[in-house]
Amino acid sequence: MNVPESSAPRDHHQAQQPGTTIGVYPRAVLNELPAYVAGKPSGEVPGLRSYKLSSNENPYAPVPAVIDKLAELFSAAPTEDHERPAGEILNRYPDTMYTALRQELGATLDVDPDDIVIGAGSLGALTQLVSTLAGTSADGTRDEVIIPWRSFEAYPIVVLSAGAQDIRVPLLADGRHDLQAMADALTPATRMIMLCSPNNPTGPVLTTAEVDEFMAKIPADVLVVLDEAYVEFIEDPQAVNGLEFFARYPNAAVVRTFSKAHGLANLRIGYALVHPDLMPHVRVMATPFATSTIAETAAITSLQNLDQVHKRVAIVQQQRRWVLSELHAMGIQVPESSANFFWLDLRERTPEFVQKAATWGLSVRGFGQEGVRVTIGEAEANERLLQMVAEFFNVSR
Ligand SMILES: *Cc1c(COP(=O)(O)O)cnc(C)c1O
Repeated sequence: MNVPESSAPRDHHQAQQPGTTIGVYPRAVLNELPAYVAGKPSGEVPGLRSYKLSSNENPYAPVPAVIDKLAELFSAAPTEDHERPAGEILNRYPDTMYTALRQELGATLDVDPDDIVIGAGSLGALTQLVSTLAGTSADGTRDEVIIPWRSFEAYPIVVLSAGAQDIRVPLLADGRHDLQAMADALTPATRMIMLCSPNNPTGPVLTTAEVDEFMAKIPADVLVVLDEAYVEFIEDPQAVNGLEFFARYPNAAVVRTFSKAHGLANLRIGYALVHPDLMPHVRVMATPFATSTIAETAAITSLQNLDQVHKRVAIVQQQRRWVLSELHAMGIQVPESSANFFWLDLRERTPEFVQKAATWGLSVRGFGQEGVRVTIGEAEANERLLQMVAEFFNVSR
């Protein structure tokens, strides 16, 4: 193999540490990127059904109409022409504007379809927004994106990969955003602020009143992005409503997903609401054909059967209320959750809890020495979790 004699990086944009032997180096910023830790599937415990409570997925499959529609999509009558068998849809690219879904969303949400951008998950749409607004200038200075922390672990990855700097503002002790501290973190370099309601992994919502008060402090040239991945699970009437927020502020954007309440996490489809002035620029940063016609069709069908989606959500909400009240009855404090998960502030006992859960056939998501996020799952999973929690804290139930 022909490796150049001097394989040291030539400029400061490349990583200065060894790690490759071929003389090709990754960008230096990769050293700063935390790796995304996906929730682990639950391990096998003999005689016990295992449950994955680590990725905030919907425990229920998509509504039956979605399954039927996808089956229909793949079972179109075969033709004589062998180049066009059933499932022809697979060899054609999707409509890269996802027009049909934007129209369905527009009608469902009462939003102009032109203000909607579809992405490979809401993370795809968010990545598009961040890379439109924040990066590194030619002189090497980085734009800043203020994020609540701890929050969705993808935020620092998306911001740093765009070349911008994430400014992490610690949450309050009760797991809510510290909006005053976030406003105080503004600098001339701030381009964007992330808000997450309900906040992953702690669960509380932002209220309309506090978001309005916050927006009054934010300059017009800073985009405030509200991540509403779990919006469907909210019951709190005080919670900020992303659609009203978007309609009210020109410097507001919203991201939402079909991954959680709609049960379509594997199909990778989500969207952002973006002001029309910004939209042409956001479109420039699109990954062409980011998601599939299959995902688009599933999303449309799910929207057309929202009553059934809401029935599933209602079961999760009912389970959440029950789990939280049982925890409360055991004297265990958790932040008020409006999502399909809750947060245990376990600090140094975090790894111990994660390990114990595994021996109970439950996979939960530990964050270092900070705490554990547990997804609300099937009733049996929740019941087992509560029994395990009682044993862990040595309290009776
Ligand atoms: C799960 C989640 C998402 C959704 O990601 P997708 O890319 O849509 O699957 C977005 N934001 C938060 C806070 C999440 O927890």
